Amino acid sequence: MGRAENNKKSLPHFKLEEALRQQGCALCRLVENTAQDYLEGLMYELVNDPAVQEEFKSSLGFCDRHAYQALKMREGLGMAILYGVAVREMEKLLSGLADNPKPQNPITSVLSRSSGEGATIPEPGEGCMVCAAEDKAEERYLKVLLEGAEDGSLDSLLHGPESVCVRHLSRASALSGGWLPPRLTEIATHALRDLGSDLEKYVRHNDYRFSEEPWGKERDSPKRAVKLLLGRRRR
Ligand SMILES: [Zn+2]
Ligand SMILES: [Zn+2]
Repeated sequence: MGRAENNKKSLPHFKLEEALRQQGCALCRLVENTAQDYLEGLMYELVNDPAVQEEFKSSLGFCDRHAYQALKMREGLGMAILYGVAVREMEKLLSGLADNPKPQNPITSVLSRSSGEGATIPEPGEGCMVCAAEDKAEERYLKVLLEGAEDGSLDSLLHGPESVCVRHLSRASALSGGWLPPRLTEIATHALRDLGSDLEKYVRHNDYRFSEEPWGKERDSPKRAVKLLLGRRRR
């Protein structure tokens, strides 16, 4: 049995194939689904789990993106239990703060601090557990994508201009040490060339000499440019 056949049997490979059959960046879709599944599993089963509560406490809750996503699920009880833990932790941190002496040379600008360093109060959501789950899933799917694009097992599905957004191409290249399988660069180059010409046409419509020309598919090219570069809007 070849490597490609082996890959096909793995669940991530199967899920990636399924996502590539749909519109838009497959990686964006898979990462988004991961977050939703993770939040559902958490809310329905794990809010009383001590290890989960410990993790939630240390990050002082979810990051803003995932906190608002969780609120939309209308799982008030789960949120009340989890945020109760974070709020008690915050109270404890604040009461400890009262005894600290004022430093002689304080950093007075919020811009000069880097990633919460030196902050007495941790930034809520830093180290968000849903972000961590997303990152793990993203890396797993990117590896499957790189393998599948290299051994040809994903060739029939890698054709749409938006199969993989540039943000995810960038992450794939980072994962493989600055390299991309030719198949991936090929589809991206094709998509970028097509988009570039549509954007030029769009700009041309604003030139009075060509203002009478009828509009074609270039009409939504600015929107497609954002989508191609960034993928699906992250919730
Ligand atoms: Zn993407
Ligand atoms: Zn998050």
